[in-house]
Amino acid sequence: MKQDNCIFCKIANGEIPSRTVYEDEDFRAILDLGPATKGHTLILPKDHAADLYELPEDVAAKVLPVAKKVAALLKEKLGCQGLNLVQNNGELAGQTVMHFHLHVIPRYENDGQKILWNPTQPDGAELDEVLAKLR
Ligand code: AMP
Ligand code: ZN
Repeated sequence: MKQDNCIFCKIANGEIPSRTVYEDEDFRAILDLGPATKGHTLILPKDHAADLYELPEDVAAKVLPVAKKVAALLKEKLGCQGLNLVQNNGELAGQTVMHFHLHVIPRYENDGQKILWNPTQPDGAELDEVLAKLR
């Protein structure tokens, strides 16, 4: 199902033109208009889901195989030396377009980008507390 006024629904379903690098029945992969690096690609499901929480399981299961195809393309055609998969959920996490999308970001030597997070150093008790909540 598409959602009115969702730009990624319109792009994924071809109503708004995009620089499509890959397409199948369920997904369209497009070049990001504000790329982190050369070849930064977004994988969009054609059916609307706001985020990972809304994404149906069967669609979720098909995302990573598409990411593998795009990753292979970026390596073969652009010669990237590394790759980040990034998927933001919620404004707090940096999501700006509320239609699920997986970023495929090729990485190159001296590309000016960073690793996403800064590691912290919790003690064992803190980790155990989290573990107790999650199990
Ligand atoms: P996020 O912050 O995870 O929601 O990512 C949204 C991404 O979509 C950003 O990297 C934008 O540069 C990109 N973007 C927004 N509008 C468009 C568009 N019309 N075509 C291609 N990429 C877009
Ligand atoms: Zn949508």
